[in-house]
Amino acid sequence: MINTLLIANRGEIACRIMRTARELGMTTVAVHSDIDHQAQHVLQADLAIGLGGAKPADSYLLMDRILAAAHASGAQAIHPGYGFLSENADFARACEAHGLIFVGPPASAIDAMGSKSAAKSLMEQANVPLVPGYHGEAQDLQAFLDAAAAIGYPVLLKATAGGGGKGMKIVESAAAMAEAFASAQREAQSAFGDARMLVEKYLLQPRHVEVQVFCDQQGNGIYLHERDCSIQRRHQKVVEEAPAPGLPIELHRAMGAAAVKAAQAIGYVGAGTVEFLLDARGEFFFMEMNTRLQVEHPVTEAITGQDLVAWQLRIAQGEQLPLTQQQVPLRGHAIEVRLYAEDTDNDFLPASGTLELYREPAGGAGRRVDSGVVEGDVVSPFYDPMIAKLIAWGETREEARLSLLNMLRETVVAGVQTNLTFLSRILAHPAFAQAEVDTGFIPRHAEQLLPAAEPLDDRFWDTAAKAWLLARPVRSAATAGPWAELNSWRAGLPARSRVHLRCADLDRSFAAVDVSGCSYDPATRTLLLTDGQQRCRYPLLVGGQVLYLQWANTWQRIEPFDPIAEVEHSQQHAGGLQAPMNGSVVRVMVEPGQQVEAGAVLLVLEAMKMEHSIRAAEAGRVKAVFCSEGELIAEGTLLVEMEDAP
Ligand code: ADP
Repeated sequence: MINTLLIANRGEIACRIMRTARELGMTTVAVHSDIDHQAQHVLQADLAIGLGGAKPADSYLLMDRILAAAHASGAQAIHPGYGFLSENADFARACEAHGLIFVGPPASAIDAMGSKSAAKSLMEQANVPLVPGYHGEAQDLQAFLDAAAAIGYPVLLKATAGGGGKGMKIVESAAAMAEAFASAQREAQSAFGDARMLVEKYLLQPRHVEVQVFCDQQGNGIYLHERDCSIQRRHQKVVEEAPAPGLPIELHRAMGAAAVKAAQAIGYVGAGTVEFLLDARGEFFFMEMNTRLQVEHPVTEAITGQDLVAWQLRIAQGEQLPLTQQQVPLRGHAIEVRLYAEDTDNDFLPASGTLELYREPAGGAGRRVDSGVVEGDVVSPFYDPMIAKLIAWGETREEARLSLLNMLRETVVAGVQTNLTFLSRILAHPAFAQAEVDTGFIPRHAEQLLPAAEPLDDRFWDTAAKAWLLARPVRSAATAGPWAELNSWRAGLPARSRVHLRCADLDRSFAAVDVSGCSYDPATRTLLLTDGQQRCRYPLLVGGQVLYLQWANTWQRIEPFDPIAEVEHSQQHAGGLQAPMNGSVVRVMVEPGQQVEAGAVLLVLEAMKMEHSIRAAEAGRVKAVFCSEGELIAEGTLLVEMEDAP
């Protein structure tokens, strides 16, 4: 019997697991890193135990501390969530050795699927179809060149220990292999402590279709339909839906059966996901099995009406599967989007910072939000940058799509860059509406999904200035008065109202702003502008000393600036290249005095276990390098200074 459950995770998934555990009458125990001591998962738990420092290696990955926390709290079971220790067979074994229930499959099943190579060998034996490729022992460059030549380019290198798209590189030709191989190995070594690779034929625009399976300890296994997770960037899922649109019933059944066969071949217990690539001809190939609860499990819950975490907890306590295959319901359609802190205009670089504004969409029938943050929380560079998941269910796919679009419209995030606008564009895209989904969706529609930022036009700046004058943050009584105004009011001189505003790294100054016929209603947070016959409404929020104006579907952050201080600052930083995020320097490719071409890689940073190249914007000469290999650097740090070539 599980009376007390420890959740060895953080963020939205920890909160989500706790919700069900509470419903089942369990006492919930959170563990946390130092910087998470006020996080939602900590505040929502009955008991919380600190583990250590911010880095996962100093907290969420410390098995001994987590086991000690389980004992100290009287927990009988540990739910690992996803990520962190969820697919760590040693941890599953350690739980067992300590007399604790690991809510997941047996260690042997994790071992079997833990390595993509070993999993492929097993599946080969079980006659589950595989993508053509090489997953052997030999790990020298020549072995990979030979294998790639045999399969034919393009090929895809993958870390055998991989996950989350890390350590994956597409290789277009033999000439590009050596560099890609080395980079993928480095990424894999740093992300998983294991540099081993496999290589596969790179399928052109397949669909990613995965099957949710469940097995009990009595040997029964069923599937809870499939999910289509084809909409991806950097090989990571962004939009997921269930069921997979347009899948013929025979294919649905064949994939389900193959998935259950894969699970049973390794003595699986609990929730698992078998991932397939589906090509345009309807042929499907085993990719890997995830031996845990998936991020996107809510869409399956929505179409089946089942609580997968409750199933996990019941099965972990020895209960049988609650349904037979024929009894698994399938109703309507559900779509999920992952709201990430990231810079969509900059190759989806992870972003971090404080959630100055954070409003989730309203609740309602068929709507669900899974999150682990509230306004004011910090999105830290130490963990996955996912902020929340928005899930909509409808009787039809179109109903779900429109509902989710509305939810996205109601969502407000400011202070941290997010993919919110990008998600809305995907859902609103006619090709998505037509269910024309495959893994090439984002690159194919990049022009519409990631348009070059519209320059903020005069109409925007005029509106921003009016917004500022009407709604600008209220000052305290002590600082109120002419001295605190952001204009150049001077005693005895005529008033010359000057407003200096900054938005999207652009500055504008306004000498005179006419606000006649305009008003701001703080209750509904709307700015109303009247221009002749035309009346326009704009959502407008005030946060601290900043305004957020919704303009062309995007929340624009508007702040005042001091033109004099700015000039000094810009002089200090002329010609510099700053770190776009917190991370560490993997390689420095240039030295002072060196001439470089436009686009040349100056250095390679690693953040969130991915490598990012910092390139020269234009040709020039390296004046100075301010960092060295291995150094940890904060976002905004000046890394390299450039000067024009003499
Ligand atoms: P990870 O475990 O890092 O998430 P996966 O093996 O699950 O990596 O692959 C992630 C994604 O990469 C897939 O969903 C798919 O879009 C793409 N992908 C993987 N293998 C191939 C392949 N052989 N051909 C084309 N795309 C692939």
